[in-house]
Amino acid sequence: EDLADIKKKIEAMEPGSEERKMGVREWRRLKRIPQGSVENGVIRTYLEWLTSVPWPSSTTTDTSSLDTLRDRAFLRNAREQLDSDHFGLDKIKRRLIEYLAVVRLKQLAVADDHRELDAHAQIPSESRELVKVDPANAQVVPAAPKRGPSKKAVKGPILLFVGPPGVGKTSLGQSVARALNRPFQRISLGGVRDEAEIRGHRRTYVASGPGMIVQALRKAGRPDPVLLLDEVDKVGQSNFHGDPSAALLEVLDPEQNHSFNDHYINVPIDLSQVLFICTSNTLDTISAPLLDRCEIIQLSGYTYDEKMHIARRFLMPKQMQANGLVAEHLTITDTALLHIVTNYTREAGVRSLERAIGSVVRFKAVEWAEHVDDGKEKEYKNVVEELDLETILGISRAEGDEKDREERRGLVYGLVVTGMGEGGILPVETIAVPGSGRLKLTGSLGDVIKESGEIALSWVKTHAYDLCITENRAQDPLKFPDPIDIHLHLPAGAQKKDGPSAGIAMACAFVSLLTGACIPTNIAMTGEITLRGRVTPVGGIKEKVLGAHRAQMKKLILPWANRKDVEHDVAQDVRKEIEFVFVKTMEEALIAAF
Ligand code: ATP
Ligand code: MG
Repeated sequence: EDLADIKKKIEAMEPGSEERKMGVREWRRLKRIPQGSVENGVIRTYLEWLTSVPWPSSTTTDTSSLDTLRDRAFLRNAREQLDSDHFGLDKIKRRLIEYLAVVRLKQLAVADDHRELDAHAQIPSESRELVKVDPANAQVVPAAPKRGPSKKAVKGPILLFVGPPGVGKTSLGQSVARALNRPFQRISLGGVRDEAEIRGHRRTYVASGPGMIVQALRKAGRPDPVLLLDEVDKVGQSNFHGDPSAALLEVLDPEQNHSFNDHYINVPIDLSQVLFICTSNTLDTISAPLLDRCEIIQLSGYTYDEKMHIARRFLMPKQMQANGLVAEHLTITDTALLHIVTNYTREAGVRSLERAIGSVVRFKAVEWAEHVDDGKEKEYKNVVEELDLETILGISRAEGDEKDREERRGLVYGLVVTGMGEGGILPVETIAVPGSGRLKLTGSLGDVIKESGEIALSWVKTHAYDLCITENRAQDPLKFPDPIDIHLHLPAGAQKKDGPSAGIAMACAFVSLLTGACIPTNIAMTGEITLRGRVTPVGGIKEKVLGAHRAQMKKLILPWANRKDVEHDVAQDVRKEIEFVFVKTMEEALIAAF
């Protein structure tokens, strides 16, 4: 960058402001130090960074985002923007519109405040010059009113999108930025261990530089961008490199973030105009204070029906365009598309669907190119049918999943939500081995899930006679007729599992094991049980039901108290295909299962 440019930018900074003082001081230092020396370079780099931060005063001329907010049609346009970027997600879009309405009110209030301030601070540009003029002749520069956080501005909540991969968290953030007509920058926090990555290294450090926040601001070029903090659940906790999560809290805290301190820049930066949106796969690993600051918006994944629509309206056109094909070159039949959705992808979101469609489109793009190069002699078929998929995508991974499941004594399907926020089924396997009446639990289980295994077994033991496992009430089913140990295992042994929601599945597995009766493999269940055999509600119902639907389950046994979740959250087309049994007690669960 040109030195003159830097100078101009310092001159444009608000008189009396910290950044200007710092800029002037460093500028003078730069002038004293011989050019070409290391120190000179260091200062110059610093000044380049300092002047590239979009300070409020130097960028107020750009009012495009304010104009967008002032527009009477703002909310209508925003809704159109959201609709044109994403299919479905009605509840979420409604929440976002509410959010945008609030942001708009607040921002306009702040803007009015600042206009008053600016009216006070009409400073002639010549008095902004860096070179000291003769004090006698100098105009008196009025002290700039503190711009600070506006009192009228009630701080808006920070959005937190939670959900499995590929459901549109990042792209919703982009959509919000477009609706507000503001620049969008994504900051990836996954695996950040070092506080300095967020707030920079001190300048005393060799090769120091600013942190991610300042870098993003520079790229955005405006003090009011939308910054998407991706994967906030994966930011590291306090360690010897400082405390990244604390730095993050400071960034997001409206009480503190009007004077965010980047160690490198070393001048407080006002982040109060930045709109932060966080994304995360799960809520479990997010610290309570951070959760407290956020407005949580849950995205759960799509049904087959929704995926078909998303594929037709969004993914296909996107991939076709990316690969230079037009509609008449290629259509994928409905059955073929459904086949991709159901058999080539097993996910809550649409990322591998997008990838699969991409593969199909590229495959056909090559064929088309060859066809054209051959002078259109070779035949080209512009339709992809179900039969063609195996040549293009290979043998489908999920083929025959349901058929693969075999009914077995002691085997029951439970429902889980993985750490990625994705729902699915989880086999609960039990076997009996000669032993001494003990319960062995394996599969990387946490304390809570282990305890619920013991509760389930205790319940089965006390009801063994009623369940026709023993011949009188005094007998222990693990000792009668021969002493055994029960080994319970939850496969994918390397994946950590915890939570109480496998209670009824484990109890059913014990009953099946001890009675010899099997449970059909298209039944899955979830629910916590108490020692008295009551079934209590569990979380993640929507994800679990969608996962069960993907796994072609036909009947689900769920706690009575979760009825409302199914009614509110699960789409009609999924509900149609699954029989739901809501139970209050373990007895009811057994009746439904066997
Ligand atoms: P991750 O947790 O892995 O970061 P994500 O939730 O951020 O995932 P995105 O990258 O936003 O996922 O979405 C993946 C792709 O799916 C994008 O191309 C996005 O446009 C598309 N997509 C997701 N949901 C929809 C939808 N409802 N309508 C249209 N396109 C969608
Ligand atoms: Mg993302």
